Amino acid sequence: MKPENDKHANLSELGEFGLIKMLTEKITLKNPGSLVGVGDDAAVLDYPDKQVVVTTDLLTEGIHFDLVYTPLKHLGYKAAVINFSDLFAMNALPRQMLISIALSAKFTTQMIAELYEGIYLACERYGVDLVGGDTSSSVTGLTISITAIGEAVKDEIVYRNGAKVNDLICVSGNLGSAYMGLQLLEREKKIFGSTGQQPEMDEYGYILERHLKPEPRGDIVQLLRELNIKPTSMIDISDGLSSELLHICTASKKGCLVYASKIPIDPETEKMGKEINIDGLVAALNGGEDYELLFTVPLSAFEIIGKRPEISIIGHIVDESEGKRLVTQTGSLVDLKAQGWKAF
Ligand code: ADP
Ligand code: MG
Repeated sequence: MKPENDKHANLSELGEFGLIKMLTEKITLKNPGSLVGVGDDAAVLDYPDKQVVVTTDLLTEGIHFDLVYTPLKHLGYKAAVINFSDLFAMNALPRQMLISIALSAKFTTQMIAELYEGIYLACERYGVDLVGGDTSSSVTGLTISITAIGEAVKDEIVYRNGAKVNDLICVSGNLGSAYMGLQLLEREKKIFGSTGQQPEMDEYGYILERHLKPEPRGDIVQLLRELNIKPTSMIDISDGLSSELLHICTASKKGCLVYASKIPIDPETEKMGKEINIDGLVAALNGGEDYELLFTVPLSAFEIIGKRPEISIIGHIVDESEGKRLVTQTGSLVDLKAQGWKAF
């Protein structure tokens, strides 16, 4: 059997070019903007009358993911969609991506094929072409860098800096669940490490999925288009609501008033929170990786947005001099603080 047909072959047998061939030979480009993909020195894209929106994200083993509890297929999926989420947050649609990987000797061809299964699933689901990448070895662990390219008509692009006084602050889905899913996985990893006891996570399917397999909110971008509502500002929630609200306020030179009682939190998030003594609200404000959209809309959109079950109105934009504040469940006012992920 040729090494490129043998999924258990180790990477040195297959070699860099054999691996690239195995990973990319099934690609068929679907977008008209993807003129040339894998196979030449660079990809060629065609966007005659659109603006091109580009984003990149780097994931490093041991910092951003733990392969003890992260299936490689899920990791590939997540690495791709977190980039699509950044494009959706600009109100752009993802069309192409490039992926660069660095691999240590512990990885087999089978493992990388699994990673790519997740990547191709994400590409299929979100209509994206994989048009290139780079492959390297590493001393330890896996590093994945993905660059995603999207398109938007010039006037459709939504920035962080457009929020106006009295705009409604809106959030899609619910918050804090991915953080709780991660806490559960970390807890079970510790228990398994010290007792060998198999994890019991049956009742927590939703929060686990939210951490391992997030879905970026392309559906919300689509919905807002159908409703004819263009957000005045938008950002995706990767670092917790507080941090993202502060980004919008700072960029827009405005303040905000948000109500704790209006922040959407799933019952499973609350339940897990009770077990580990972390309030669901704290996870929503300071947890990470929800990949929901936070956006502002003019007050005139209240009637329409207020009817949508997938969107919560959590507060409104105020003058910068009024600060960036949260009304707690008991009615007191506290300043929002950015905790976010401690990446370093
Ligand atoms: P170069 O020497 O110019 O960097 P490579 O041999 O690395 O070229 O890549 C050959 C082709 O395969 C290029 O089109 C590149 O974009 C693509 N490619 C390389 N590595 C990957 C990968 N891990 N995933 C997808 N495409 C890849
Ligand atoms: Mg290369």
